[in-house]
Amino acid sequence: MRRFALAVAASLLATAAIAAQSVPHGGVGVDVAGIDKAAQPGDSFDLYANGGWRQRTEIPADRASIGSFLTAAQLVERRNIDIITNAGRSNPAAGTDARRIADYYAAYLDTAAINARGVAPLQPHLARIAAISDRRALSAALGASMRADVDPLNATTFGTENLFGVFVAQGLQDPNRNFAYLLQGGLGLPDRDYYISDAPAMVRVRDAYRAYVRDMLTLIGTPDAEARAARIVELETKIARAHVDAVAAQDPHRVQTWRRAEFASRAPGIDWDAFFTAAQLGREESIIAWHAAPVQAMSALVASEPLDTWKDWLAFHTASRMTAVLPQAYDDLRFSFYGRTLSGAQQQRPRDRRAIQATSGALIDAMGKIYVERHFPASAKADVDAMVRNIVQAFDRRLTRATWLAPATLREARRKVETVTVGIGYPDRWRDYASLEIRRDDAFGNLWRAQEFEYRHQLGKLGRPVDRNEWWLGAHTVNAVFLPLQNAMNFPAGILEAPFYDRTADPAYNYGAIGSVIGHEISHSFDNLGAEFDAEGRLRNWWTPQDQAAFRQASQALIAQYNAYRAFPDLTLNGTLTLGEDLSDLAGLAAAYDAYRASLNGREAPVIDGLTGDQRFFLGYAQSRRESTREATLRNLIATDGHSPGRWRAETVRNLDAWYTAFNVRPGQRLYLAPAARVRIW
Ligand SMILES: [Zn+2]
Repeated sequence: MRRFALAVAASLLATAAIAAQSVPHGGVGVDVAGIDKAAQPGDSFDLYANGGWRQRTEIPADRASIGSFLTAAQLVERRNIDIITNAGRSNPAAGTDARRIADYYAAYLDTAAINARGVAPLQPHLARIAAISDRRALSAALGASMRADVDPLNATTFGTENLFGVFVAQGLQDPNRNFAYLLQGGLGLPDRDYYISDAPAMVRVRDAYRAYVRDMLTLIGTPDAEARAARIVELETKIARAHVDAVAAQDPHRVQTWRRAEFASRAPGIDWDAFFTAAQLGREESIIAWHAAPVQAMSALVASEPLDTWKDWLAFHTASRMTAVLPQAYDDLRFSFYGRTLSGAQQQRPRDRRAIQATSGALIDAMGKIYVERHFPASAKADVDAMVRNIVQAFDRRLTRATWLAPATLREARRKVETVTVGIGYPDRWRDYASLEIRRDDAFGNLWRAQEFEYRHQLGKLGRPVDRNEWWLGAHTVNAVFLPLQNAMNFPAGILEAPFYDRTADPAYNYGAIGSVIGHEISHSFDNLGAEFDAEGRLRNWWTPQDQAAFRQASQALIAQYNAYRAFPDLTLNGTLTLGEDLSDLAGLAAAYDAYRASLNGREAPVIDGLTGDQRFFLGYAQSRRESTREATLRNLIATDGHSPGRWRAETVRNLDAWYTAFNVRPGQRLYLAPAARVRIW
C-alpha cells in the first residue's frame, strides 16, 4: 500500500502491449483534447479532466484496463523490448548479464521447445509431492515451497499461492537487525471473501475456480479430478476462514515475534523443525509471524486435514504457478480462469510481450542497469531531485502549521521528514546474478531458479547490517514507493516519464503529476500506518492521545467521503481499506501544490492553452491518474486493493481550497464541500 499504485492485476497489466491502441499523451503536459468540456469540474473533476479521453479510448482486448500507467509502461516496454531483443546480438560471453537476458528471453519465447518437453520439467516436483508419506515430509515440502513473494510494508503484496510467503526486512522493534517475516497465503483466489461471500458474483467465480482446479488436475494426470478438486477448494475455504481480512492483514499490531523453537507450542500442527530447515531458516533465532493468528490456524489445518488433500493441493499449485512455462494447454487453461473470468480480459497477451515482462521481472537489476544507462540522463535525476527537495520542504512547512499537533509530536514528525532517504532513478548498488543459472533451452528451470535466486537473495540479508538505501522496485518500474521501516522512498526511472514527469512540460503540469506522486510517497510517512513508525523505522507510538484523536477524526471524514462513492449500483468503495492511500493522495497533492506555488517566487504563472497555472496543476494531477477499467477487474480491485480506483483518486481535489478558486466551483455542485467539511490533515 505504500506504493503509489497497484500495477493492476499484475499478470495482465504489469507492462504494456505495444500493439495496443496508443494513448494520445506525452511531450506536451496537459492533454487538452482529453478534457470533456461539456462536463462541470465541480460535478466530477475526473469526468471533466478525462471524459474526452475515456469516450474515445477502448480497453485493448488483452488488457483489463488502460490509462496513464499503461502510457508510461508502453514507453518503458518499448525500451525494454529493444534492450532484450538486442541483448544477444553481439554474442555476449556466458555468465554475463547480457547473455542471461538473451537466454531467458529466447527460452521463454521458444514455445515449440516448451511444448515438446511437455510436462517433463514439472514431473520431478510432482514426484516429490507424491512421495510425501507423513506430516513431517509434508511440513518440509511446505517449507521448501516458500518464496520471497510478499511484502506487507513497502510494495504491499499480500498474495501467495504457497502456504506462507516470506518477507525479509529489519525488525519492527529492532531497526538494526533483519528478520524473516511469515505471511498468510495458500489461496488460489485473490482474497478470503471469494471463498466465503454469498454474493452471486463471488459464487460464480468460485464455481469457475473449482472447474479450473479440476481441469488442471486432469492435465497433470490426476485421476478422479472432480472429487479431488472439490476437496482442494474445501481445504482452501478452511484456509480462507483462517485468514484475516484485507484490512486486518495490513495491521502491524497483530504481529508477533516468536523464537523459532516456540513455533511448535504456539502454532502446533506443522513440524516446524522440518519446515524451517527446508525453508533455509533453520538457524534463525526468531521469526516474525506477521499474521500470527492465521499462522496458528493454518498450522492446525496441516495436522487436521487429510494428507492426500494437502498433496493434491501442493501438486495443483505447483502446476498452476508455472503454467507460463508449461505447454500451451496449461497456459490457455490458466488464462481462461485468471485472465478471462477473474480479470475480464478477452485474450492472452502476445507471447513475445509476456517474454519481455518475464525477463525484466526475473533479471530486474540486470535490466534496470542497462535501462538507466540508456534512458535516464543525469539532468532528469537532478531536476527530480530539486523537485523532491521543494516538496519535502513544503511538507515540512505544512507540518509546522498543523496546529493540532503537540510540540513533542511535531518534533518527531519533522525529524522523520529531515532524515528521509530519497532514491531517485536507480539503486546505488546492483544485484549480482553470478549464481543464477539461465539456460537457453530451459524456460521452466529458468523461472524456477530465478524465484529461488530471489529467495536466497532476500535470505542473504539475514545476519547482515540493515541497508537504509535498499531498493524495492526495479529502476525500469512504473511506480514509486515509500518504505516505512527504512524511512525512505524509491522513485524509479520508469515513472519519471510522461504522463507523470514530462521533461518538456511547464512546472505546473509536472508539480501536479509527478509532484503529487512525490508528495504522496512523503505523506505515506504520516498516513494511518506510516505515522506509527518513527524516524528509525521503529514501530513506536510517538503521538499524544490528543494528536491521535484529531488525526482519527479527520481520517473518519475521509473514510466517509470515499465510502459514499458508488462504483456500481451494488458496490461502493471501502474507505477503510483505502484510507492510507487516500490520506497520502490528499496530503501529497496539498504539499505539491504548495511547492508549486513556492517555485513561482511570487510571480503568476503564464496562461497556456487557455489554462491558468493552477488549472494545469490540477489537470496534471487528475490526468496522470486517468484509467478505464473493465468491470470484473474494478470489482476485484475495490475488494482487495489498498488504492482507490484512479477516477476517485482524482476527485480528492475537492478538499483543496485552491481547486475551488481555480475552477470556480460553487455550492450545489456534486463535489462541492463547504470549507469546514473539506478534509485537511497535513
Ligand atoms: Zn501509496
